[in-house]
Amino acid sequence: MARELYTARLLRKTCISEVAQCYHFVFEVEGRDSFDYLPGQFISAVAPDENGKQQTRAYSIASAASGSKFELCVNRVENGFFSNYLADLSDLPVGGTIQIHGPHGHFVLQEPITDSIFVATGTGVAPMRAFAEWLFPADGPDRSQGKDIWLVYGTRHETDVYYKEEFEALAKRAPNFHYLATLSRALDDWAGLRGHVQVHISKTVEERAKLRGIPLPLDPAIVAAAQSFDIYCYICGLNFMVSGVRELLDGYGWHKKQIVFERYD
Ligand SMILES: Cc1cc2nc3c(=O)[nH]c(=O)nc-3n(C[C@H](O)[C@H](O)[C@H](O)COP(=O)(O)OP(=O)(O)OC[C@H]3O[C@@H](n4cnc5c(N)ncnc54)[C@H](O)[C@@H]3O)c2cc1C
Repeated sequence: MARELYTARLLRKTCISEVAQCYHFVFEVEGRDSFDYLPGQFISAVAPDENGKQQTRAYSIASAASGSKFELCVNRVENGFFSNYLADLSDLPVGGTIQIHGPHGHFVLQEPITDSIFVATGTGVAPMRAFAEWLFPADGPDRSQGKDIWLVYGTRHETDVYYKEEFEALAKRAPNFHYLATLSRALDDWAGLRGHVQVHISKTVEERAKLRGIPLPLDPAIVAAAQSFDIYCYICGLNFMVSGVRELLDGYGWHKKQIVFERYD
């Protein structure tokens, strides 16, 4: 059955990293009062390539649902068709349009909300931004229920730390939101965290287990809630990072259902 296609008009495009050629987009679905989705889901964007062949690519929505708008975070991939198509789309004088279908996907927050570690690299931060906006809305009641939320965001260089100011502001506003941006190729003047995301996930997991007096690795025969280890990890990015983090958590004896992930490749 053919999927229903919507036309989405670009309202605003902002370059959030010149070096990484990463853009933030605000779209509006035409002819609809609302475009509903769960934070963490993605849309499929459709456009014809230079040979007239329809190309479809998935893009995580980088915002919580708000009327008929949705936001994306996309970086140019060398010689890639769709990322460059989007990055070249103009928002002036009237925004260009794309066709989309969706929302799709199961990378969503599990209910009830638990303490959670969000792990992302690169544009994998997009669904984490949607989670954060939904859990800690700027203009509505908090949905985090006081649970501790860590965002461990890894990238190589300081120029690729997307939405840094936004997440820092959120960490100031919400004491249970912890923002850990770490660089694997930091210059000498970087005052923040260093190393791959795994280093900081390990620290977070081990500190929390110690605080609660829980020995690691966990006993896989005992359900997580029964051993007071009801913490989830949400991972998004390229497969090599996602696999690495899953292996790390497997090593701690984490239950499979507590590891929710989305792979971009
Ligand atoms: C569920 C899901 C959600 C996604 N969300 C986002 C998102 O929020 N933001 C975003 O920027 N991307 C996202 N992606 C990736 C996106 O769908 C495209 O794969 C990406 O934009 C490249 O498409 P392209 O047409 O430009 O490149 P293509 O023409 O498909 O590929 C060109 C070359 O680049 C390589 N390549 C493909 N994808 C990537 C990549 N992601 N990184 C590096 N090299 C790649 C290919 O192997 C190929 O050699 C998501 C993917 C999935 C599956």
